Amino acid sequence: MATKKDSITEPVSAKGLLKEFAGLSHKKFYARAGKFSKQFRVTGDKKFKLKDFPCDVDSNLGEEEKQATQQILRIGVEALAELQDKLYAQDKWALLVIFQAMDAAGKDGAIKHVMSGVNPQGCDVNSFKAPNAEELDHDFLWRCMKHLPERGRIGIFNRSYYEEVLVVRVHDGILKSQKLPEKLITDNIWKERLGDISNFESYLNKNGVLVVKIFLNVSKKEQKKRFLERIEKPEKNWKFSNSDLTERKFWDEYMAAYEDMIRKTATEKSPWYVVPADNKLYARIVVAAAILHALNSMKLYYPKVSEEKVAELQRIKQMLLEEE
Ligand code: ATP
Ligand code: MG
Repeated sequence: MATKKDSITEPVSAKGLLKEFAGLSHKKFYARAGKFSKQFRVTGDKKFKLKDFPCDVDSNLGEEEKQATQQILRIGVEALAELQDKLYAQDKWALLVIFQAMDAAGKDGAIKHVMSGVNPQGCDVNSFKAPNAEELDHDFLWRCMKHLPERGRIGIFNRSYYEEVLVVRVHDGILKSQKLPEKLITDNIWKERLGDISNFESYLNKNGVLVVKIFLNVSKKEQKKRFLERIEKPEKNWKFSNSDLTERKFWDEYMAAYEDMIRKTATEKSPWYVVPADNKLYARIVVAAAILHALNSMKLYYPKVSEEKVAELQRIKQMLLEEE
C-alpha cells in the first residue's frame, strides 16, 4: 500500500487482485479500481524516489492465474467503455492520458489493449516523435496543444511535451537545435519547463480536461530481454531501431530526469502513475484502473431529458406503433 511518502511497500499481487475484483458489479469495480491504482499514484511528493516503486509484480504466474488476470483486464476494459459512453454523451469533460516510458516498456501494447473496448469515435491517439521543422518553429507545447481532446473524448498521447524534459535534457545537443534565443537557455531551463508544464496542466484542469500521466516503469534487465526478443524473432525485427541501443546507454540519466519530472509535476489533480511494467498484463490492469479512477471522479451521467421531451418521445413511439 502507498505510504504517506507516495511509495510502495507491498504491491497487491495478481492473486490479491483476483480476490479483490472477482464478481464485483461495475459500480463497485470503479471504486476498487481507484483504491487499487492508488498504490502506484504519485500526487506530489517532493521526496519522491523511483527506487521506491517496483518494476515487477508477479511476472511468473501460472497459466490458471494468468487467465484469471486476463479476465480482470477484460472486465476493466468493459467498465471503461461504459464510462466513456457517458463521457461522450455528456460532452463536458475530456480526459488526456499521457504515456511516457523507455523503449520497449510496452506503451503501444498498453494503449492497444486498454483502449480496445472503447468506441473509436470517442478516442484519439497521437504519437510524438522528434519534432519536424514546422514544430521547431513554435514553442514546445504548440504541437501537443493542437491534439488536445475535445469535450466528451479521451485523448491519448504516446509520448508528449514531457519529452522536452526527458530526451532533450539527457542530450545537450537537442536543446541547442531548438532555435531558442541564446539568452533564454540558462541553468534554470528544466525548472522553468517543469513549472510551465505544471501550470499548463492546471489550466487544462480548470477547463474540464483531466490529465492522467502514466510512466511505464520497466527495468533495465527486462528491456534487454525485450530487445533481444525483437532481434531474435523475425516478426519483431521491425520494432527494433539502433537508436534504442543508444538511448539505453543513457539509462541512469533518463532515470534521473524521470524522477525529477515526476517529483515536480505530480499533483492531486494531475497525478503520475508509476506502473510496474515488467509484467505487461499487470501493467495494463494498473493503466485501466488509473483511467477508470479518473473517469469515475468526473461523476458522469447520461444527459437527462426534460419532461416535455419524454412526452414527445412517447407521442412519436405511439405514431411508430400505429404505422401500417
Ligand atoms: P516504438 O515503440 O515504436 O519504438 P517510440 O515512441 O519509441 O515507439 P520512435 O519513433 O522509436 O517511437 O521514437 C520516437 C523518438 O522521438 C523517441 O526517441 C523520443 O525520445 C523522440 N522525441 C519525442 N519528442 C521529442 C522531442 N521533443 N525532441 C526530441 N526528440 C523527441
Ligand atoms: Mg522507439
